[in-house]
Amino acid sequence: MEIKAILRAAKSQLNESNISEVDAEHLLAHVLGLTRMDLHNPVVLEATLLGISDQNIIEEQFFDLLDRRLNFEPLQYLTGIAGFRHLEIQVGPGVLVPRPESELLIDAVLLHIKNLPQPVSVVDLGAGSGALSLAVATEAPSSRVIAVEKSPEALVWLKKNVSHIAENVRVVEGDVHDVLDGIKCDVVIANPPYIRQGVRLPRDVEAFEPHIALFGGPTGLEIPQIFIDAAARLLKSQGVLVIEHGEDQSDEIAKLLSVDFIEVASHDDLVGRPRWSSAVRR
Ligand code: GLN
Repeated sequence: MEIKAILRAAKSQLNESNISEVDAEHLLAHVLGLTRMDLHNPVVLEATLLGISDQNIIEEQFFDLLDRRLNFEPLQYLTGIAGFRHLEIQVGPGVLVPRPESELLIDAVLLHIKNLPQPVSVVDLGAGSGALSLAVATEAPSSRVIAVEKSPEALVWLKKNVSHIAENVRVVEGDVHDVLDGIKCDVVIANPPYIRQGVRLPRDVEAFEPHIALFGGPTGLEIPQIFIDAAARLLKSQGVLVIEHGEDQSDEIAKLLSVDFIEVASHDDLVGRPRWSSAVRR
């Protein structure tokens, strides 16, 4: 098979559908079992192709995946992997693909944890694939992390990632609203569903990713309110909550936080949009 020709054809199809053409490289690398960089290394590529007994099968697999991508299935569902900080998180239908903007929130959490007496107890509310929990567990290895999730579909991915990456993360199946009754912790992290019901999302998100992880109720704040109440219940006095939200929600989130929290602060992402807030339990 002529790799360059295949890539050229795939990229032009993706372009026509306004999908990033680099996805062709991700998919081809995936079916060949290579990294995207290896695809551009003639020695590695040649050796890999020589080792394949039936190149037609690889080609068929690639074009099947390309068709699914052209139908707007998320790239990470097709490769089964999403990069998050230094981790490879397994994802697929039923769980939200971890977003790069959530990575920044982890920096703040790690900085805060470093200054506390160890071990620090951390609860991740609505853990999904486990990206946030596993980032904390691996980057602050002396912390004790509990990942809470209620969706049975997401729990499958969460358990898979925990068993591959950091078995010491405790997975608890339950509803944020009443989970871990009686437990007190030092830090709560959360990326709740916060999109206002009815807002149109990019096609691949809206058609394929779980709405339970995206939509936060009629105003988008009903579910974050439940998460904030749970954090207030679970945190020790002086405990810290770090919570993600939409860029137009920081004032409303601050208002919700001000009931039980002090030192409420909103933080920007890399392009200056206020995308998460932190607060200290009274
Ligand atoms: N930021 C996500 C998106 O791009 C939404 C995640 C969420 O609601 N927690 O769709």
